[in-house]
Amino acid sequence: MKVKANLAVVENRIVAAAKKVNRDPKEVTIIAVTKYVSIERTQETIEAGINNLGENYDKGFLEKKALLGDQPTWHFIGSVQSKKVKSIINEIDYLHSLDRISLAEEIQKRAMHPVKCLVQVNISEEESKHGLSEKNVIPFIQQLESYDTIKVVGLMTMAPMTNDVTVIRNCFADLKKLQLKVQSLNLPYATCEELSMGMSNDFEIAIEEGATMIRVGTVLVGEE
Ligand SMILES: *Cc1c(COP(=O)(O)O)cnc(C)c1O
Repeated sequence: MKVKANLAVVENRIVAAAKKVNRDPKEVTIIAVTKYVSIERTQETIEAGINNLGENYDKGFLEKKALLGDQPTWHFIGSVQSKKVKSIINEIDYLHSLDRISLAEEIQKRAMHPVKCLVQVNISEEESKHGLSEKNVIPFIQQLESYDTIKVVGLMTMAPMTNDVTVIRNCFADLKKLQLKVQSLNLPYATCEELSMGMSNDFEIAIEEGATMIRVGTVLVGEE
């Protein structure tokens, strides 16, 4: 596995996708999802020039952070049980999986400073997926006003498991529309400038539809 070579390929694909829709590829941050891989591979990822790492499991994340420290920007992308909040919330830079008020309450209790959160949305309404239904997102964000440790910097979604490109594209386009609605509320605690969408199989479509953060594991760092 050569992360550096993979990164060159991914970067070229980002540039091509951005060009198609007249976006600046610099608007897209690559989050390398290192959840499957060893500390050595994660180190190699940082050496390849990637500064944003995504982890989804508290234990794996804490082990990696203990060794790699504060220099990478740490994105927690997995669902969080309330009882795990205490151990991770002051160690991460971004939480991509805010999906319920009980989680917000626990963050409010445990966070020592404001946390950059993305609200996870289950656009496709697949039962297996975490996240709020689209219709519940704005009421949920409005409820967060009194939680002064929570900054809603964006929205996150996962496309459904399908090969139907139109379905995937619509999912991402719907998240973009929802972002614009949130932004039109002008809430100081919910600037919502980020759209975290797109993974190994669909990141080009996500970029065409407005992603600012793509979460890429398999094609960049491998899956073991
Ligand atoms: C694992 C994971 C990814 C990366 O998936 P790949 O298909 O390997 O790129 C992205 N986002 C989330 C939320 C994940 O759990």
